[in-house]
Amino acid sequence: MTITFRPHHFLCTLCFRGKGHSPDFIRNYKKIHKNLFATGGDIIPIEVVAHTDAICEPCPNKQNLLCKVQEKINVLDKGHAEVLQLIPGEQLTWGEAKQRIKDHMTLPAFHRICESCSWKQYGACEKVLTEFLS
Ligand code: SF4
Ligand code: SF4
Repeated sequence: MTITFRPHHFLCTLCFRGKGHSPDFIRNYKKIHKNLFATGGDIIPIEVVAHTDAICEPCPNKQNLLCKVQEKINVLDKGHAEVLQLIPGEQLTWGEAKQRIKDHMTLPAFHRICESCSWKQYGACEKVLTEFLS
């Protein structure tokens, strides 16, 4: 099973704590999250894509390969792809993805590249990332 992630969803998934755009969105995300964080989840392959992905699938904002707020999402994807050195078409395991976050993500980078995200203000992502990087 290979799942698809757009660049900014690697960090979102690390930081996911059960909140999201709709009940269906949350249900799907919880399933993905549970598989990745279960024993053996580190070997699950993930393909980097430059469009909607496995997490976007039931999102009310999804419009085929695009998102209703595409311009905002482009900014997030670009920033995350640059910091984590992710290239569309690349495949990496979840374990490798977490290592990539450990090696390249910093709190200042997080504050910069997640600035436009409406979830950032709640502090959950910052808290998880701070613990993850310590
Ligand atoms: S602040 Fe937003 S974009 Fe950044 S990791 Fe959290 S949910 Fe994802
Ligand atoms: S808001 Fe857009 S990028 Fe985010 S999960 Fe929904 S469809 Fe995907």
